[in-house]
Amino acid sequence: MDSILFALDSSLGYKAFEKDRSSQEEVDDLANLLRIYDKVQAFLGFERELATLQSYLSYELPDIPELGRVRKIHRSLADRIKDPKPYVDSDLKFRSEILGSSPDQNDTLQSLLHEYSALYSTMHDNLLSGVEECRAEMAKLLTGDELRALEAMEAISAIPKGEHATISRKIAELKDSLFSCHDPSASSLNLALQIRPEHDCGLSFARADGILKDARSRADEARTTIDDALNRRAEILYSPAIRERLSQGIGEPAIDAILACHSPEELRSHLVESLSEDPSVVDVINRYLKRVVIKAVKISDFQPTIRTVEREHLERVVSEFRKFLEDRLSEPEIDSRLMLQLE
Ligand SMILES: [Zn+2]
Repeated sequence: MDSILFALDSSLGYKAFEKDRSSQEEVDDLANLLRIYDKVQAFLGFERELATLQSYLSYELPDIPELGRVRKIHRSLADRIKDPKPYVDSDLKFRSEILGSSPDQNDTLQSLLHEYSALYSTMHDNLLSGVEECRAEMAKLLTGDELRALEAMEAISAIPKGEHATISRKIAELKDSLFSCHDPSASSLNLALQIRPEHDCGLSFARADGILKDARSRADEARTTIDDALNRRAEILYSPAIRERLSQGIGEPAIDAILACHSPEELRSHLVESLSEDPSVVDVINRYLKRVVIKAVKISDFQPTIRTVEREHLERVVSEFRKFLEDRLSEPEIDSRLMLQLE
């Protein structure tokens, strides 16, 4: 008994231990404290609901029109729960005014979860289908005619090698880096949203636009990567020197079709179509281009001795550039024709 009285002395400042007698005032105070303790303990029985409430109320909702109604409920709940005493005092009040028993009940956690989950699921579905579209575009590029034609073109003697593999890898990496959700099922979404405002994939209203834009730009980058590579090859094959060599094969249907193209763009679509259908067209082309070697030269590798150029320096810079190209044109093999492609 003494140790209890001593504890009440040190924690609540009661004098019963010191004076060795109890006062009615301290007895009433203790009874009151025990009542409060019971209520708080009962209130903490709502641990799961309180965690959900806390998780939603501490979540920053972006200011977008579609979340208007949700923000209103959010604000109202946050305002009311600021003073938790009435709800600690009455679990009935807490159940009916804060938790709510049906989704139609205004401004309760139930109505917040109901409204928010419906909007979140729609946003989640739309985002995933937008990203899926980009993923499908990339998958199509990886198995498409253009990449196949690019691979076939590398067997043409004049065409630089190895880029097809690099491009395939790059597109596959872009595709794999797209946003994904491991379990987009309605049951998985509902389960997560009953506890917190984001699904397991971490998608939020605030990030959705950015994720979709990012997926779009990755799909565009994949497209541009193939386009650039094909255009560079078409430019090589459309160059006058190559056409002149190919003209030795006039009469061969494959060569005639190439020479009938009137622009690099036209040649590009012709080659994509014919090479993806029949890569052996390359053998016919090679018969006439056997000794042509194309070397890629980066203009950025040209390092003139002066960087700030005035009129009187032009001749010096031009002759340095000529020397730069001549060095790269020095024949690697006798009897082959070296061409430079400036990049
Ligand atoms: Zn998800």
